[in-house]
Order: sequence, then structure tokens, then C-alpha cells
Amino acid sequence: MNTTLSSFDAYAEQYQKSIANPEDFWSNIAADFKWRKKWDKVLEWDFHKAEVKWFVGGKLNITENCIDRHLPQRANQTAIIWEPNDPKDEAKHITYKELHEQVSKVGNMLRAQGVKKGDRVCIYMPMIPELAYAVLACARIGAVHSVVFAGFSAGSIADRIQDSGCSVVITSDGSFRGEKKLDLKSIVDEALEKCPTVKTAIVFQKLKLGVKMKAGRDLWWHEEIAKVSADCPPEEMDAEDMLFILYTSGSTGKPKGMVHTCGGYMVYINYTFRTAFQYRDGQVYWCTADLGWITGHSYILYGPLSAGGTTVIFEGIPSWPDMGRFWQAIERHKVNIFYTAPTAIRSLEKAPLSFVEKYDLSSLEVLGSVGEPINEEAWHWYNKNIGKEKCPIIDTWWQTETGGFMISPIANVTKLKPAHATLPLPGVQPAVMDENGKELTTNGVEGRLTIKFPWPSMARTIYGDHKRFFETYFSTFPGKYFTGDGCKRDEEGYYRITGRVDDIIIVSGHNMGTAEVESAIDEHHEVCETAVVGYPHDIKGQGIYAFVILYHPPKDEEKLRGEIKETVSKIIGPIAKPDKIQFVSGLPKTRSGKIMRRILRKVAEGDTSNLGDTTTLLDPAVVDEIKAGAL
Ligand code: ATP
Ligand code: MG
Repeated sequence: MNTTLSSFDAYAEQYQKSIANPEDFWSNIAADFKWRKKWDKVLEWDFHKAEVKWFVGGKLNITENCIDRHLPQRANQTAIIWEPNDPKDEAKHITYKELHEQVSKVGNMLRAQGVKKGDRVCIYMPMIPELAYAVLACARIGAVHSVVFAGFSAGSIADRIQDSGCSVVITSDGSFRGEKKLDLKSIVDEALEKCPTVKTAIVFQKLKLGVKMKAGRDLWWHEEIAKVSADCPPEEMDAEDMLFILYTSGSTGKPKGMVHTCGGYMVYINYTFRTAFQYRDGQVYWCTADLGWITGHSYILYGPLSAGGTTVIFEGIPSWPDMGRFWQAIERHKVNIFYTAPTAIRSLEKAPLSFVEKYDLSSLEVLGSVGEPINEEAWHWYNKNIGKEKCPIIDTWWQTETGGFMISPIANVTKLKPAHATLPLPGVQPAVMDENGKELTTNGVEGRLTIKFPWPSMARTIYGDHKRFFETYFSTFPGKYFTGDGCKRDEEGYYRITGRVDDIIIVSGHNMGTAEVESAIDEHHEVCETAVVGYPHDIKGQGIYAFVILYHPPKDEEKLRGEIKETVSKIIGPIAKPDKIQFVSGLPKTRSGKIMRRILRKVAEGDTSNLGDTTTLLDPAVVDEIKAGAL
């Protein structure tokens, strides 16, 4: 299907069609792919049991669609541009033909170790091309990949391996993080002491750190790959066979092993990638996420490759060798579409503008944002300095569980509104619910965001725990998928995500979303980033406690606090004025850059005895500083 939308009316028409007859709509899109066998039935579903199946009876292999299908026209086109950690090193351009060969070899290497359809493989690797090969190789032979971000500790890897019973781990002997070298292999060794299901560890030699190899378990990638051929027939998969397991970021509690399946996922990710960004043939696309997150799975690999696109994989970090690293790489590869997270934007905003101005960013056409609501101040900075006010910002709201974009503007089609994810994509049917479970059907409402009809890439279950899946997502509002997020739908029908429902603060009976209050505080010119939480307050029920990062050390703290309160008062109203403002140098974030407000809530409540699961925390030291400075 042609996904180019010429106007807002064309979107509205497509949306209407997708709602009037979802099965027709999705089967039209699915028809573009290579199916070994066509599906018998488009959709079967029952949200009361948390059961969904798409393209029932269809047979396919996703790598045949992401790679082989393109070979007749695109064998020599670049599929992946790999930008190394150190800008002095050379970038790699991997064509579709080379990708086919590499993925096939890795697939055969895994098969040679006895890996077969349905087996779980844990991948713990830096952002190097071999990571992409490993992921796609699993998909090719029908093994279920479980990618674990290569910044996690031994304990977190062990938890994830045990939870899904992986039999193989693929890792490397090390990775770069800016100027640091990390020894991934010894972290894996420690994890594997607690993982008896793992029989084989395949180690890619990246840094030649001289790591120890355990006889009978550890194998060198380069030795094994030399033994296999490049002919790897893809495994025929059922549309509903498992493609991967991926753990959520853990912002709200213990991570959940979300299960995604082959057919619906492929169709939806492809469609949303092409639609939201209005991707055109030949464009260079760069998503800065790590492959260890859903954003990396869906919109570094499967989306762009299924569309025959050119996707950038970046090994480094935005702040090394200096704060211009992203902008330098955009210039170098003439990136057309750049997709990053608000947390990255806010940290780069702190650096002098000269880091941006040094580079030619004129190739940029579309910008994207994901991970949390983008505050208005960051939105304007991004729009002005990076997009030069000519690139739409595609603020994509979605989750690990949804697999792909749900609410998002469409590039050059949807009129933008800063801090708003705007409108549902075709096929997505949001419903805003009040606390009592009643759907709010008009515009100009605020409540809990649910989705009332299935979409093809939704997670099918939590690995090994369907009961938890049902309870987490389908029991709060029977018959609907509950996202856990709060939202506003304004008079125009535009959605604004106001934060997690669990984080909502109720001040004197008024519901206050964290995102809105934070965005208002961030408007003060001295404020870089903020997190707010509620705490018990004698008179108001809950008071607002703000943790604020400043651009410069404050000259007069009390005066600044007063100004910040005034700023919030002007933007939202006096009711939203923070009661307490603590200046901090950092915030507790997950390794995907999300604020763990539940930890801050404990600090604000003065109860730090049990902080819950903190294994996905990026920098535990920050918590000590915050505890020490609590008001
Ligand atoms: P866990 O579910 O384990 O607590 P998590 O929710 O942080 O972890 P993800 O699936 O990575 O794990 O994040 C999805 C969440 O991120 C959404 O529910 C939403 O709260 C937030 N989010 C993502 N993109 C946006 C966006 N564009 N606007 C607003 N919020 C967003
Ligand atoms: Mg979540």
C-alpha cells in the first residue's frame, strides 16, 4: 500500500476506513509482504481473556521480508550505516546483499550449535553491526531473541535469562562507552554462574581484551563463523509464532518480558514507520535508541529494513568526544530523518549552541521524539536549533507492549502542537476513561488512556505469565487495553500524555499529571530538567514536590524557588505550584533514560527504607545525593 498521505483529509479518510473495516484495512497492507502461505483469517480476539491473533494461519519469515525480498532491486543499496564510537574511525556501509550474507552465516552458526525454532537466545552486545546480524539471524532460524541492553549488570542479565530460559548467549569481549572500555564478557560470566540453562556463549571479538574463555561453553564468533556457509534457508514461521521477548524499561516496577509475534508485528511496524515519518525511498534514517529497547527493535531494525530503507546504527554516546557528536554524524551521513529522546535533547541543550552551529544540518527533513512526553521548552529548542523550523517533530507515543507507534503526528500532514502526541494513527482506537470506568466520549476531557480495539503489533502475553498480562493490561477496564498512562484530549481531539496514572498527584481534589507540571517548571530559563511527585500534605491531601536540575548553580535559592512557583502559576495556575523544590544534580533514571518517580516519591515521603526494584537504574549514586538533600 502506498503510505504517502498528501493532506490531512487523506489521513482522516484513511483513519475512517481503518476503523470502519479494520480487517480489510490491515489485510491490504499485509498483502505487500511475502507470505509463504496466506492467512485464513485476519483477526481473532477477546480482550476479556487478553487473547489476540492476527493473520491466523499465515506463514512467513520476517527476515525474508526485511532482506531477501529487497535483493532484486536493492542488493547494492546501503541497508545499514554503522557509525563507530570514535569519529576518527571509519563508518561502515553494509548493503542489503552483505546483510543477507552476514545474517545467513550467523543463522548457520547458531544452527550448528543446535539452536532451533522456539529456542530463546539472549543477546548482550554493543551497538555494532554484529548485534543486528545476531538479532536477524535468530529471526531467520525461528529462535526467539531476547536482547538485553549492554549496560545492564550481571544480576539483571541473569534475571532475564532465567525468566525466559535462554540456552545460548551471544556477547562480545568488550564495548566502548565514550573513552571508556567495558568488559562485557566478565559481566556475562558472572551472570552465567546463575544460569544453568545456558549451554553455549558465543563471543564476538571486538576489543581483544584477552578475556577468559570457559572450555565446553564459550566459543569465538570468528572461529565458528568461518566454518559455515552463507546459505541459510529461512525457517517458516506461523504468523503467531514468537519473534522476540523484550523486557520493559522498569520505570514503574519489575520489568515485564513482553512477547511479540511474527506476522502482525511485521505488518504494523512497517506501516507505522512509513506513515509517521512519510519515509521515502533513498532517505537516510537515524534512530539514536539502543537496540536493547523496543525503539531499537522496531525502528532501527525491523521497520526501516522491511521498508527497504537505510538505517544508521550508532555505537557511541551523544557527549563524546564532545557535545556535538550527534550533529557531526548527521552532517557526515546526510541524515534526513533523525529520531531521538527528550532526555537526550535536554542534555544537549545544556551545551553551548556552537556545538550545533559547527555542522551542516541541512539534510534534515523530519525529526522525531520518543520515550516520555517532550516538554515544551525542549520541543522549541529542538525545533529551532536542529530542525531550523522547517522539520516537523514527530512525537511518537507508544510502549514496549504496543510494539509500534500508536498516537503520533504524520510528517507534513498533521498540524503540530508542542508536547502533544496529537492524533491516533490509522488502525488505533483510543478511549479515554474516567476513574469509575466510564468512557469519556467528548473532546475536552482528561482521564486514563486505553485502546479499545486490537492492532497487529500488540504484545500477546508476558512470557510465562499470562495471568500477569491479563491483570496488568486488561483487568482495570474490562474489554479494553489499559496503557497505564494518563492523557488529555483537547477540543481539537488532540492527545497530550500527562504522565503515568500511578504518578498522578491529587492536590485539593484536582488531578495533576506529572508531565504538565514538569513542562511548566522547565519553562523557567534557569531550569534544565524536572521531576515532580506527590507527598502527603495535611491540608491539600497531596503536595507537589519538585526535583529540579539547573543550568547553573543558583545565586539565591529562595528567590529562584519563588520565580519557579510564579512560572508554574502563570502557565497552569496557582494550584499547580510546587510546595517543595529541591535542587539536584541528577535524577534517578532507567538505562533507557526514564525517570523512576517511584523512588523520588519515597524520598518525598521521607521513607527510603525500601526502594523496590532498582536494577534498571542508570546511576545509583544519584539516589544517595537526593536522599541527603531531601527537604
Ligand atoms: P515499565 O512498564 O516496566 O514501567 P516503561 O513503561 O518505562 O517500563 P517502555 O515501554 O519503554 O517502558 O515505555 C513506555 C512508556 O513511555 C509509555 O507508557 C509512556 O509513559 C512513555 N512514553 C513513551 N513515548 C512517549 C511519548 N512520545 N509521549 C509521552 N509518553 C511517552
Ligand atoms: Mg510501561
